[in-house]
Amino acid sequence: MDVPTTTSSPLGSRAVVAVHPSGDAAPELLDPTLPALYIDDLAAVRGDGVFETLMVRDGAVRNLDRHTARFINSAAMLDLPAPDTGRWHAATDLALEHWVASGGGDGSLRWMYSRGRETTREPTGWVTVAPEPPAVARGREQGVRVMTAQRGYSLDITKDAAPWALVGAKTLSYAANMAALRYAKSHDLDDVIFIGDGERVLEGPTSTVIMARDRDGVREILTPLHEVGVLPGTTQAAMYRLAGEAGWTCSEAPLTVGDLRNADGVWLLSSVRRYARVTALDGTPLDRPVCADEIEDLATRAAEGR
Ligand code: PLP
Repeated sequence: MDVPTTTSSPLGSRAVVAVHPSGDAAPELLDPTLPALYIDDLAAVRGDGVFETLMVRDGAVRNLDRHTARFINSAAMLDLPAPDTGRWHAATDLALEHWVASGGGDGSLRWMYSRGRETTREPTGWVTVAPEPPAVARGREQGVRVMTAQRGYSLDITKDAAPWALVGAKTLSYAANMAALRYAKSHDLDDVIFIGDGERVLEGPTSTVIMARDRDGVREILTPLHEVGVLPGTTQAAMYRLAGEAGWTCSEAPLTVGDLRNADGVWLLSSVRRYARVTALDGTPLDRPVCADEIEDLATRAAEGR
């Protein structure tokens, strides 16, 4: 279990495991302070691969089955060899064992699955564990000021019309999503909600959008239709199950920015963040609704699902 680390690098406390997705080699603990990829790895060269980010809580990953199902689906959409889930789960256990043994607390665990090396054509994969970024905790505690922004490609792209658009796959190609977040930050905002034609709401660059209506005896939670080109969120799916049990009507609907403005509350959901309430949308403040504690408790329990 002892992994020598070469420097006092800030990466020293992280855990890294090589998965070896094909072949017979077992998952292997690596020194997190050393480079682990070859320069011809298509993850780096082309962003050609898929990933998952799982919440780590009390030394375990949460919603493992939902992440595993989406990982398999994303890999299939990219024509990657079907991941050997036993091997990815063994790598996850090894990474967590090391993370906990070296004093790691709650955080995030990533599965990275690349088409692999251009020269050897062998897929590559690795698992990392890192602490929760401070901005994520801040968004949960203080909420986020959000701008809407055009996604930049048409909603008519459906899986059948253009399967290469990889709509619904969690691919490594997040440069455009990160650019949108940088744009928001450069305008003193915290996050983005992508929209399409007709101000149709899609998703955040790293989150699912939900809105709640809690008035006149109606208690409903809505999220955009996933067919319009959004990644199906594991947190939102787990939350819908819990919220349904708690008496909320939960559905997908063709939401517009106007619907968000008229909602009682809007949240961004994702696995490690759990939730971040939208406190202002395009400069218009959104007050904290009475149902906020309940929604945030549901989101927390959903993200912490075992
Ligand atoms: N949508 C996008 C584009 C994402 O990147 C993510 C998570 O990173 C989500 C939605 C939320 O998914 P999950 O709740 O499974 O973390």
